[in-house]
Amino acid sequence: MAAANPSPILPSYFIFMFFIIIPCATALPDEILRKDIAGHLRTDPESTSKASADYGNLVRETPSAVFYPSTIDEIISLVKLSNNLSTPFSVAARGCGHSVRGQPMAADGVVVEMTSLAGNGAGVGVGVRVSWNPALGFFADVGGEQRWIDVLEATLEHGLAPVSWTDYLYLTVGGTLSNGGISGQSFLHGPQISNVHELDVITGTGDFITCSKDMNSELFFAVLGGLGQFGIITRARILLHKAPSRAKWVRLIYNDFSKFTRDQEHLISSDSNGPNYVEGSLITDNSPPNNWRSSFYSSFHQSKIRSLLKSNQGLLYSVEIVKYYNDLTADTIDEELETMAKDLEFVPDFMFKKDVPVIDFLKRVAIGDNHNSEVHPWLNLFVPKSAISDFNDAVFAQIIRKHNHTISGPILFYPFNRIKWDDRTSAVIPDEEIFYTLGLLHSSMPDEVENYEKLNNEILEFCEKSGRKIKQYLPHYKSKEDWVKHFGSKWDSFREMKTKFDPRMILSPGQRIFNSI
Ligand code: FAD
Repeated sequence: MAAANPSPILPSYFIFMFFIIIPCATALPDEILRKDIAGHLRTDPESTSKASADYGNLVRETPSAVFYPSTIDEIISLVKLSNNLSTPFSVAARGCGHSVRGQPMAADGVVVEMTSLAGNGAGVGVGVRVSWNPALGFFADVGGEQRWIDVLEATLEHGLAPVSWTDYLYLTVGGTLSNGGISGQSFLHGPQISNVHELDVITGTGDFITCSKDMNSELFFAVLGGLGQFGIITRARILLHKAPSRAKWVRLIYNDFSKFTRDQEHLISSDSNGPNYVEGSLITDNSPPNNWRSSFYSSFHQSKIRSLLKSNQGLLYSVEIVKYYNDLTADTIDEELETMAKDLEFVPDFMFKKDVPVIDFLKRVAIGDNHNSEVHPWLNLFVPKSAISDFNDAVFAQIIRKHNHTISGPILFYPFNRIKWDDRTSAVIPDEEIFYTLGLLHSSMPDEVENYEKLNNEILEFCEKSGRKIKQYLPHYKSKEDWVKHFGSKWDSFREMKTKFDPRMILSPGQRIFNSI
């Protein structure tokens, strides 16, 4: 897999500054000003500047205008208008802008601020509507602009909740369904894209289409994991279950990679009495047990883990398990946990437990206030099970150790069951029954970003040389060739769907797929 920089990934602080001060381009046709949508377009520097950045803070692409829709019809008009022009302008839906490589941007085009449909309580969009029918059971119709935290809060009022989450809930439904939406529940329920019954989509031709597995299924599967290439999701029908009330939350520390992965795989193979959530991570000097993703440990426990880390050449592994329970199972939950942990081979006396309301567990990740001044050169990979041992030897024990002084964020590593992913979606995963996700969630100051890119590139080079089918999650590439390689056997149909649903290549140009070199 080649090193992947779509477009202006910035090599140094100075260039970073240079991009910030590029003046806003204005390339919109006059027709746009005569339409009913003109009143929702803004070209002021505050709007365009916000839409020209994302969480990564690595790419700057200035749109000509930002569109703040108050209805879905207005988005349809915007996309249709672009289609009717001899030279269409690009349109990028933007959720919370939590991408890291410019994916929600549209250089010289129009960025659609999807969250303006949420209307700050004015209820202009779909919102979150909970229903039941005999075929589906409980489900929620949710606007594509809704954040998962909003979905959680609204569904909990009915004693219900989605089953598959992301770790961080301040992401939009449209944004995560365009990627996958993964977390520690994915081994059991699949990613978020496996838990959607139906979608409303505005295609690149401005058609408004309702789709599901049985209705307009080509579009349905293309859009899920489709990186925003085929349509703008305005509604998703999401499966709900009865919400659990409390969570037993456990972390186990390992000093041996084989035991760490063997136990994770054992846990994700469990029957219905097993855990509801399984994740794993690495602990190093600069990736300590407590970080912005969660402050789990007391200071006493942190110092105990630090001592163990010292005696293990600065590398430990941690498995995180959650088992939900409620009043009915409160008497038996501890016994169930004990049974679950009985044969696990963590370091004796390195099991740490918490007992919290489920909502506290689901809301555990907060990104803090200083993320705007930092850059986030994240790297997310899916590694097939057959490659993890080599991956540990080369990446964890060598590359990451070598760059230990550079690492400054969580390093996630945990497995999924392929069977819980629907191969008809656009999401790309390794073709083995079990694969792991690696998340290197770096935060750095802008002048240190080169070191992080060097580390990422070394890992990507290892992946490429190993010949293993390691795939990027939240992918970013700079060449068409790399995209074709990434999609593999899915490329032909991905391209065919683009021709069908967005033939003029209007949507989500920031992904740099059809507009790459
Ligand atoms: P944006 O970044 O705004 O958009 C992402 C892409 O989707 C763009 O191409 C955009 O054009 C397109 N898009 C946005 N809305 C729509 C829509 N309605 N219809 C069609 N296309 C659309 N991911 C996980 O899977 N699991 C995690 O646990 C997780 N944790 C994260 C934690 C943090 C702190 C951050 C910053 C990101 C995390 N992510 C995680 C990644 C996240 O899923 C992606 O960034 C995703 O893009 C969602 O972000 P967003 O809603 O802000 O979308």
